[in-house]
Amino acid sequence: MDGASRVVHAAGGRVEARAVVIATGVTWRRLGVPELEALLGAGVFYGAAAAEARAMAGQHVFVIGAGNSAGQAAIHLSRYAASVTMVVRGPGLAASMSSYLVTEISKTANIRIRPSTEVIGGSGQCSLETLTLRHRASGATETVPAAALFVMIGAEPRTTWLPGAIDRDDQGFIRTGRDLHRASERPPGWPLKRPPLLLETSVPGVFAAGDVRHRSIKRVASPRAKAPPPSSSSMSTCAPSTTDTARLVARRDGLGGGVLLREHGDELGPGADVELAVDLAQVELDRLG
Ligand SMILES: Cc1cc2nc3c(=O)[nH]c(=O)nc-3n(C[C@H](O)[C@H](O)[C@H](O)COP(=O)(O)OP(=O)(O)OC[C@H]3O[C@@H](n4cnc5c(N)ncnc54)[C@H](O)[C@@H]3O)c2cc1C
Repeated sequence: MDGASRVVHAAGGRVEARAVVIATGVTWRRLGVPELEALLGAGVFYGAAAAEARAMAGQHVFVIGAGNSAGQAAIHLSRYAASVTMVVRGPGLAASMSSYLVTEISKTANIRIRPSTEVIGGSGQCSLETLTLRHRASGATETVPAAALFVMIGAEPRTTWLPGAIDRDDQGFIRTGRDLHRASERPPGWPLKRPPLLLETSVPGVFAAGDVRHRSIKRVASPRAKAPPPSSSSMSTCAPSTTDTARLVARRDGLGGGVLLREHGDELGPGADVELAVDLAQVELDRLG
């Protein structure tokens, strides 16, 4: 930071700006199962449990992973799905998941754990219909019906290049807005009288949007209704996707940056995030005159 300016150093030189939006995304660890990669977005999702959960009402869904994100996803999905099966490569959850989540999962009747198991295949005409699981010790394989698979095996935010002044959570995701100052009116060290704007980071005038942001939903679009199951009599004609880009309206309240956020979709995704962050950056520019 240099006075009112923020300086971004890029390979081609330096760029000076009064407001900056960081939208550098995350790097996902991939499953590497070709038939499941072919069904991405059609029942197979990286992250995305928050955005897709409502569409899973009454369905049998699977989560791969044993970390906190996988645990949170399983609990969230269990509120909608008929059953949630967690496929875990290790012997259980305790080694990699917070104990409060392990306890909550153990108390949730429709969550089942499949330890020492990996997903090695899957199939589906228009969207995911089955998964093939292998027990790692015995080598025994089993094909099970599955309406959706949520892959939660790790995502790393691309934030290592950022200075320490940009506050991040313990996984490196950038905190913004109220996540910076839940307990008090302003985050520690915040230099302005006004609190941070909705997607503003711990540095005034620097915004974060999309997957890189702490607690964003890791999606561009989210479903508004449950997708109809593929008809067995017309398997060659796949139903069109019912996903609809999350939309929002940000309105300046004329008092120096207050923002009314109105959701029209079920969830906000990075597309909406970026749109809003740019709008907020404009608010900040207007404020600076
Ligand atoms: C396999 C897969 C399938 C998915 N399918 C869907 C789907 O069907 N529907 C859906 O809604 N979402 C889907 N998603 C999620 C969706 O892709 C992400 O939510 C979305 O791309 C996030 O957008 P973003 O702008 O935050 O980050 P990204 O799309 O990751 O963009 C970040 C950009 O920043 C650049 N960058 C990173 N670091 C730097 C740096 N230091 N300097 C300059 N540039 C940098 C990167 O090169 C990249 O171009 C999928 C994700 C995966 C991994």
